[in-house]
This record gives sequence, structure tokens and C-alpha cells, in this order.
Amino acid sequence: MSNQTDAQKHHSFFEDVIRYFDYAASFVNAPEGILEQIKHCNSVYKMRFPVKTSRGIEVVEAYRVEHSHHKLPTKGGIRYNENVNQDEVMALAALMTYKCAIVDVPFGGAKGGITINPREYSVDELERITRRYTTELVKKNFIGPGIDVPAPDYGTGEREMAWMADTYAAFSMGELNALGCVTGKPVSQGGIRGRREATGLGVFYGTRYAMSFEEDMKKLGLTPGLEGKTVAVQGLGNVGYHAAKFFFEGGAKIVSLGEYNSSIYDANGIDPTEAKAYFSAKGTLHGYPGSKALPNNTDVLEVECDVLIPAALENQINGSNAARVKAKIISEGANGPVTPDAEDIITARGGMIIPDIYMNAGGVTVSYFEWLKNLSHVRFGRMEKRYQQNMNNSIIQAIESSTGKALTESQKKVLDRGADEQDLVYSGLEESMITAYDQIRATYLKHDGIKNLRTAAFVTAIEKIAVSYEMMGIFP
Ligand code: GLU
Repeated sequence: MSNQTDAQKHHSFFEDVIRYFDYAASFVNAPEGILEQIKHCNSVYKMRFPVKTSRGIEVVEAYRVEHSHHKLPTKGGIRYNENVNQDEVMALAALMTYKCAIVDVPFGGAKGGITINPREYSVDELERITRRYTTELVKKNFIGPGIDVPAPDYGTGEREMAWMADTYAAFSMGELNALGCVTGKPVSQGGIRGRREATGLGVFYGTRYAMSFEEDMKKLGLTPGLEGKTVAVQGLGNVGYHAAKFFFEGGAKIVSLGEYNSSIYDANGIDPTEAKAYFSAKGTLHGYPGSKALPNNTDVLEVECDVLIPAALENQINGSNAARVKAKIISEGANGPVTPDAEDIITARGGMIIPDIYMNAGGVTVSYFEWLKNLSHVRFGRMEKRYQQNMNNSIIQAIESSTGKALTESQKKVLDRGADEQDLVYSGLEESMITAYDQIRATYLKHDGIKNLRTAAFVTAIEKIAVSYEMMGIFP
């Protein structure tokens, strides 16, 4: 969000990640040298290039950071925002390494960013900037299906990924796997169904699963399950909007929504799709029918609710507002929305934080599926969908003839089909989120000293990465 205070701007996000890492590393039994190797960023590429805009020639500053090469390619989004800086990109690259390890996505972590406010540039200018940025990455070997694979992040989307893929392909004639150089592409350009909503859907699957443990919910004074729970969401971008939509469709009540310039509250619940359409048309959430405008943009973080989903930028919940955050569960849709100081305050009052490196891993999980699709050159489900449907049909007929009873139409509707690409992506994502949560929860329960899920998530990730390094062998 652009309404950052000076203290927030000067706060080092990368140091926060180091603080989380160091604390978690004290629970990991691995050689000191390997922990040191994991913690730091392997390659930091800062670039400057000129771009012709309607205002004249502008010098644009941009970054790509590869945090860990223990698995290749490295992976992570590209952010377009006026506050992008080296410290931020390094922190985000590091988080990608841990995120991939947690969901068993076989990539190292990376991140990129361009220091621009995309709202101040025309589509043509954005295309020129994106293509030039990609060219700079090609020049230094910082992009490629087996090297480093960007994806969307704050301020970028399918359109930018299509430009990147096309630019890369132009430099790599005959490279069969060129489309795998970037994920989050439009479906028509080698993208995969389900990637657009993947991060929000992952937030939904992960939170719903965490809320299914009766003993954990009891400690928070909650009953298990999502039905009827109150939810607040900061950010109506790709992550926040889809998360809100899945929670709404899943029976939760969205009581508050916030954007960079406005936030609203309605105890009776808000339909996020209507609110998003209102925001797109009016440029503000204020005045949305039935809702009350909250005085500050960040007030969405402080409303009474069961689940709060910060899905905008880092440092949103910090030492200065953490004591006023009332949510019982904070599901981190964004990367780094809660600072370590804020986490201490929230953990001390018994609040549960489901950490970013797990909570928003749905995006990179489905990016992995997209990359696999690009390398295999075939749509998921193409080979087996019809076969499965015919088989299910035969089973229906066998059941009906052996029992002498016809199945109901709704029973038939569920059974009489094969899985298409979206079904498989959704099921692979749900499986990844559930397996990863089980691992994190087991780590949390195993160590008495681990005080929260973030530490448990870091420990889970570091243990896996340390094993990779030990298996790789270190060159003499
Ligand atoms: N930018 C997203 C993230 O922070 C997605 C990364 C990817 O798909 O590679 O996780």
C-alpha cells in the first residue's frame, strides 16, 4: 500500500526474514555452514535501463534476485511497485525458497521487481519496460525454463507474463521448452487453467484445513469449520479477491474489505464479486451499498472478525497497530504482512498466524503445474478424461443393473465425468496444501519450544533444504 509511514519504509524486510530464519534454525540439526549457505541470497542483479515514455527518456531501476540454487530452476514473481528496492526483493526471494520447500515444489527461490508505479504508464510503455527487462535478464542468464522462471506478483499479471514469454522466445529460436521460461501466462499462451485464482484458492484450502482441527480451534474459542465465520480481507487484487470469493462461496461471511485508498465494513456480509465490480467502476470502495466506510484504509486490519486475510503488501501489521488487531486467525495471503514485533504481540495474546511461506504457496504450486505442462507439451487430462468418463459410465450402469435401482440425477452428475485440467489443478493444489499443513503442524507439536506456526514452517523448510545441500555434496 502506498500510504507507508517513514518507519515502515526504512524497516528492513530482509532482516525480518533473517530473524525468522535464525530463530527457526536453532531447532534444526544441520551443519552451521549449510545453514549459512541457505540463509543468504546467492545472486543479486540490479539493473538500470532507459525507456522512451510520453514524458521523454526515463531511467528505470529493476532487480532479479536468486536466493537459493539448491534446486533449479529458481522461481518467483516479478513485482511492479514504486517502493520496490533491493532489500524487499531479497526478502521476497528468500521467502520463495522456503515456500517451495514447504509445498515440495522442486525449485529454488527468486524474485524480481521494477521500481515503477504501473498506474502511471500506458500499456505501450509497460510493454516496452517489460520486454526490455526480460532482455536484460536474458543477457545475464537470469531467465530460462531450467534457470530462473518468473511469475506474476503485485502489479503484474497474465499480460506481462505473455510479453516476457514472447521476448524470451524471440531470443531462443528452436528451444522446445521456451514457454516454460515464465508462468502465470494466459491459457492461450501456454498458461494453465486455475493459475489465476491459485493463490487465493490455496489460502482458502489451507485456512479451511487449519480450521478443521477441533482442538486447535477450541484454543481460539472457535468451533471447527468455515461456515458462518466472519472474515476481513485487505487487498482486492488477484490474491485477496479470489480468497474472498472462495471464502464467501464456502459459507463464510465477508464483513470487511480494504483497498489502498478505502475500506468498508458490513456486519451483514459483503459479496466480494459485487464489491470488486463497484471498486473497478468507482475507484473506491466507499459508498458500496449497505456498507459503512471506515475512516482509514488500514482499518480493515483492525475490525472484529474470526479470520483476517492481509493480501496486499508487507509490513501492514506492525508494532504500531498489532495490539489493535482483533482477528483470531491471520491467514497471510501477502508476503511478509506481519512484522516480527507484531507477531510477538499477536502470539502473546493467543492469536494464530498462518504464515505466508505456507499460506500463499498455492500460486507457486500451480506455477509448478504450469511449468510441467509446458515441458510435457500436453494439457492435463487430455489423455485420460474421456477414458475416465467412459469407465465411470460403465460403473453407473453396472451398479444400476446389479441393484435394479436407478441412481438419482445428482448422483449421476457427480460420477458421470472425467477430470479436466482445472479439476486436476484444483485437486493437486488441495493435496499440496493439506500435506504441507500436516507437516508444519507435526513439526509444531514435536518441539516444545516452537512458539508459533511460522517457526514450525521455517523449520520444516530448512530441514528439507539442508538435506538437499547435504545430498548435493560440496565441491572441494
Ligand atoms: N508471486 C507469487 C508468490 O509470491 C507466485 C510465484 C510463482 O508462481 O513463481 O508466491
